[in-house]
Amino acid sequence: MIVMKFGGTSVAGAGRIRRMAEIVKARLERRPVLVLSAMGDTTDQLLEAGGLAYHEARVSIAGIEELHLETLKNLGLEAARGEIVPLLDELKSLLTGISQIRELSRRTRDYLLSFGERLSVRIAAAFFNSLGIRAGAFDSWQTGFVSDSNHNAAEIAGESWKLIPEKILPLVEAGMLPVITGFIAHDAEGVITTLGRGGSDLSATMIAAACGAEEVQIWKDVDGILTADPRIVKNAKAVETVTYEEAAELAYFGAQVLHPRAMQPCMKTGTPVLVKNSYNPEAPGTRIAASPAKRTLPVRAITSRKNITLVDIVSTRMLGQYGFLAEVFSSFARHRISVDMVATSEVSVSLTLDTVHDLSALKEELSRIASVELRDGKAIVTIVGNVKRSSEILARAFRTCEFLGVPVQMVSQGASKVNISFIVDDTEAEEVVRALHIDFFDRLEIPEPVDSGEISGGGDHTT
Ligand code: ADP
Ligand code: ASP
Ligand code: MG
Repeated sequence: MIVMKFGGTSVAGAGRIRRMAEIVKARLERRPVLVLSAMGDTTDQLLEAGGLAYHEARVSIAGIEELHLETLKNLGLEAARGEIVPLLDELKSLLTGISQIRELSRRTRDYLLSFGERLSVRIAAAFFNSLGIRAGAFDSWQTGFVSDSNHNAAEIAGESWKLIPEKILPLVEAGMLPVITGFIAHDAEGVITTLGRGGSDLSATMIAAACGAEEVQIWKDVDGILTADPRIVKNAKAVETVTYEEAAELAYFGAQVLHPRAMQPCMKTGTPVLVKNSYNPEAPGTRIAASPAKRTLPVRAITSRKNITLVDIVSTRMLGQYGFLAEVFSSFARHRISVDMVATSEVSVSLTLDTVHDLSALKEELSRIASVELRDGKAIVTIVGNVKRSSEILARAFRTCEFLGVPVQMVSQGASKVNISFIVDDTEAEEVVRALHIDFFDRLEIPEPVDSGEISGGGDHTT
C-alpha cells in the first residue's frame, strides 16, 4: 500500500483532476490511498468569505460555488451534484449564521475551512468511479482521525495510530480507492478541527505511518524540495534526498513546501516520503528518509522566514546570578509564546519570535528583572547542511553577508545540528538567500562523502 497526497494546485480544476487520475491510475497495483487538499485557493477563499460575513454581514460564496460546480460539469459528473450542492448549502447557512451573530471563533473558523477538503474529495471520488475505478470519499474522522481541541493547529491524538489502520486497511483490502480529506479532524467531542495551514501533508504522512505503508508520495507543483524557494531563486534545483530532520528544519524555518510537523509520523516509523511534481511526474522528485545521501554538497537547501521580532534581554541583576534564564523562559511559557532561535551569555539572552504576538504584558513582566528591547522587521535565514562542515558553511555565509554589506544580527546553530540560522533585516533576506545560493550551489564543487570514503561519481548539484 502507498499513500498519495495531492495539494491544492494539483486538484485546482477539471484538467488538473484528470491529470491526477492518470497519475493514480498508473499506480493502482501499489494499492494507493489518496489524501486531498481543497481545490486551488479554496481555503483562502473560505477565509475571505468568513471575514466578509463577520465584518460586513455579507454572504458570498460565488467563486467557490462556481469552481466546484464548473469542475463537476467539465468532468461530466452532473449526477454527483447531489453530493456537492448540500455541502454548498450548509456552507451558506454557516456564513449566514456568522453574519447574523457576528461570531467567528477559532472553532467556527475550523468548521468553515473544512468545506474545502470535504468538497474536493467528493468530486475526485465521483470522477474515479466514472472511470470505472471503485473509489469512496471519506471525511478524515470516518477514517480514525482524532485530534486535540487546539483549533487552527490541532495535534493528532495518540489513539489515531490504532484507529486509522483499523478503518483504512479493510477498505484497501476490499480493493477500494479511499479518497480522504487532508487538513481536518474531529476532537474527542466530534467538533471539527484543523491541523494548521498546509496540514494535508501531515494527514498523509500520518496515514502512511499508522498503516505501515510502503511510502507516501506528496504530489506538488514543483520538482521536489528545492535548494531554495523558487519564487526567490529562479534556478533552484530539486534535492535528491534529505533526512527527516533536514526536511523538518526546512519546513519549520520557512520553506512552504511541507507542513512543519509533517515529518513526525514517518520519522517514528521510518516510512519513506517522496515529494513529486504532478506537472512533471517523470522527474525523480525528492526522497526523504532516515539516512542521508552518500555524497553531498555542504549545504542541502537555504530558506528564509520573515516577520520576525528579535528580543534582547539583559539582566539588571548582579553578574553571576543563577536562575536568570529559567525566569526568562518561564515568562515566555506563561504567556504561551514560542521562541525560535536563542543565543545567550550569562547575563543576556537574545531570542526570536514570530511578529504576531502582543508582547506588552510579557515585556512588563520581564522588565522587573532585565532591560528588554524589541526589534521587529527581521528575518531568519536558515542554511540546512552537513554539520561536519559547519565551520566552512559559517565562514562562507559570513563572507557573503560581508560582501553584501549586510550585518548579521544574531546566529545560532540548531540543536538538531543540521541547521545554521542567522538574523538579518527583513528587507535584506531575499538578497542574502540569492547570494548564498550562488555561493553554495552555482559553483563547481567536489561533493564530500558523508559516511563512506567514496569520492567518485556526481553529487546532487554540481553544475
Ligand atoms: P501544495 O498545495 O501542493 O501543498 P504548497 O503551495 O503548499 O503546495 O507548496 C509548494 C510551494 O512551496 C511551491 O510551489 C513553491 O513555490 C514553495 N516553496 C517554497 N520553498 C520551497 C522549497 N525549498 N522547495 C520547494 N518548494 C518551495
Ligand atoms: N487546504 C489547506 C490549506 O490551504 C490544507 C492544505 O492544503 O494542506 O492550508
Ligand atoms: Mg501545502
